[in-house]
This record gives sequence, structure tokens and C-alpha cells, in this order.
Amino acid sequence: MTPRVSDRFTGQSVESARRALAAQLRSAQLDEAELDARILLGAALGLDLTGLMTQAARLLTEGEALRLAQHAQRRIAGEPVARILGTREFWGLPFRLSEATLVPRPDTETVVERALELFREQKAIHQPRIADIGTGSGAILLALLHDIPGAFGVGTDLSPNALETARGNAAALGLADRSAFVACSYLAALRGPFDLIVSNPPYIPSAEIPKLSVEVREHDPHLALDGGNDGYDAYRALIPLAAERLAPGGALIVEAGQGQARNIETLMTAAALVVDRPAKADLAGIPRAVSARKMPP
Ligand code: GLN
Repeated sequence: MTPRVSDRFTGQSVESARRALAAQLRSAQLDEAELDARILLGAALGLDLTGLMTQAARLLTEGEALRLAQHAQRRIAGEPVARILGTREFWGLPFRLSEATLVPRPDTETVVERALELFREQKAIHQPRIADIGTGSGAILLALLHDIPGAFGVGTDLSPNALETARGNAAALGLADRSAFVACSYLAALRGPFDLIVSNPPYIPSAEIPKLSVEVREHDPHLALDGGNDGYDAYRALIPLAAERLAPGGALIVEAGQGQARNIETLMTAAALVVDRPAKADLAGIPRAVSARKMPP
């Protein structure tokens, strides 16, 4: 008789289930087996780290064992933990995800940092206006609205599903009255002017996508990854439009793929923007947040 999936964890204590799951993930060659096991167990049991420790000796219920086995199967099949949980923390804030949104990456926090740095150098603006192009879960825009009281923001995306997700995140974060989400290509539906325009556009060259890890290639939306032949299609479309819609003194900040920062700066300069500082590096030292300003006439 085929054992039911839940049998693997049935009758186990919280602690022995954690160890069994970690071992299972390790033998599936997953790099973060211990960490993933703790998070997936916590999610299946609805417990945080302290809860897992204080309840280490109790036995799993049938339902918990089944949920945990399902989580384990999905992770082993290459689904990222954030997708299994349906949520990911970014800038210290919780974001719901959907199949139409990227999982927000820690690298992308560099874009938020650079945007805040440039914003704080602008002369006091009463109600700053921010646009996030290809907003996905709304992560960049909502992080900025969270940190800039009084700012208003609009996120655009081609995917109505992503916009729904972003709206839900705005509401959950108490930012619904300072944000709007609009379906359009780049800035097509926006007039501006904006004090900040931010974007994490698709920038992976099309031919590279099949070589990405299974977590990305099979679970992140290709619309959010595929930057065309050389990876720069979105930058070529976005940068001249953004330059038109920026207020004088306003700034454009975009995420760059590895090795792309210099070419993006060239596109910005060609659009009459001023690149006044080097790209900001992420924690791995990769130039990640490329920025430029529109000078007053
Ligand atoms: N940073 C993502 C990755 O490495 C790509 C996101 C994008 O193309 N904007 O897979």
C-alpha cells in the first residue's frame, strides 16, 4: 500500500519533524535546508520560532502532518518558500504574492535606499509624487510611501492580477489612501510630473531565462524577468518616457542586472538626465540601483 504523504510526519514531535524535514530538504540538495525546514514547519503549525521551541516535544496533529508533507513536496519540487507561504518580507513589511508578481528580493531594497537618499536631498516637497513602473506586488512603491509620510504614489503594471495583489498590500499596510494602481504599459496612462520614478524592470536576456534556477524560471512571472535579446528592452523604453514625466530636480532610480549599470547610465545620459553618483551596490557588491536626476531648465 502506498503510504499517504502525511505518514512521513504523523506521530512525530515538532522537533523530530523539523529534523526529518531538514534532512529531506538536504538530500534534495537545497542550500538552505535548515532554514527552509524551520520556516515551513512554523507555517504548517502556525507557530513562530519561539513557539516551535516551546512546543518542541508535542506531537503533530494529523492536519499539521499533512500540511507539512505538502509543503515539503512543493519545496522539493523547486517552489520557493515565499511562494509556498504566499508572502514575503521586504523593507521590514509583509507582502502578499501572486503568480503575477516577482518574489521581492533583498537586492531590490537597494533601489529603495537610493530613492530615499535622493529624495532627502531634494528641497522640501510638500506632497511628493512617486511612480513605480512594473510595480508587481507594490513592494518598492509601498516601502517608499511607508517611509515618506505625505507622499502619494502610483504603481503601473501590465498585469491586472499583479495590480490586485499590489492594491491588497497597500490596504494591508494602511497605504491605500496614498496609492493608486493602474494597468498600462510603462507610464502610458500617467501624466506626472513625478518627484521620484522607480522601477525594477525585466532585465534578463531572453536566452538566459532557461538557465535560471528552477525557483525563478518556473515560479517568477516571465513578464517580470524577460528583458528581450540583450536584456535592455525595458530600459530603452522606460528611460526616455520617465525623463519626460519627471519634475525638474526629480530622480529616476532603476534596478540593474549584474554588469548592466554602465549601459543604463549611458541610456539615462542620452535622455538628458544627469547621472551624478555611481550606482549603489547591493550586499553582494553588485552595482544595483542606478539613478539620475532631471536638472531644472
Ligand atoms: N533579480 C531577478 C533575478 O535575479 C530578476 C528581476 C528582473 O528581471 N527585474 O532573477
